[in-house]
Amino acid sequence: MTTEVLGVRNHPPAKSHTNVAKRPDIFGDAGSFALPQPSTRAIRRVFAPFSTSCYRNAELPLMSSPSPPFRIGLGYDSHRLGPGGPLRIGGIDIEQASDGVHAIGHSDADVLLHALTDALLGAIAAADIGRLFPDDAEVNRGRDSRDFVAAAIEKVHETGYAIGNVDAVILAQRPKMAPHIDDMRNAVASMLGCPIDSIGLKAKTGEGVDAVGRSEAIAARVIVMLIRN
Ligand SMILES: [Zn+2]
Repeated sequence: MTTEVLGVRNHPPAKSHTNVAKRPDIFGDAGSFALPQPSTRAIRRVFAPFSTSCYRNAELPLMSSPSPPFRIGLGYDSHRLGPGGPLRIGGIDIEQASDGVHAIGHSDADVLLHALTDALLGAIAAADIGRLFPDDAEVNRGRDSRDFVAAAIEKVHETGYAIGNVDAVILAQRPKMAPHIDDMRNAVASMLGCPIDSIGLKAKTGEGVDAVGRSEAIAARVIVMLIRN
């Protein structure tokens, strides 16, 4: 009885691995991973993105541009809080009762816009806000943080990218942020020239723990996605 009768074809013997070429052009210095030869586009599409430390080294049509189609950036900032308002966040002033707080800083101490600025700059691997706008420079004393965002946007555009979307979280025990979230989203959307549905924003308390929870500090985290023009 042959394997043909059983409906099973005899497979040719496996090819020797001696003809398997390493592809340093695809896999860079970590080129110990080898593709079977002849390689197919389908195989490369499956393996290449997971086998390179930087996908721009891969030989895929989507990835052949010197600039990636997307870039992401992360920003974080925090400020101490002091007695007396208003508290500026996202370019708007939050007025509070007599026991209100404000953020302490060299500029207007807008924690959300500082984190946003760093996220934008980080996405294009530019110098961060502290290097671009030193907090010991007189010109930055009391400065409107929208200036920092505008400078970051300009750099993003110069690099050939547009803003895709933003997501952010404010960490503050008080005052309550919920009534102000949409005003902040509108303000940020206006600064970035984006529709408001491109701006995600929420707030969390510190659950009474750490500096945020004790109302000693306020913080913000922002992530942005850029899209190549
Ligand atoms: Zn700051």
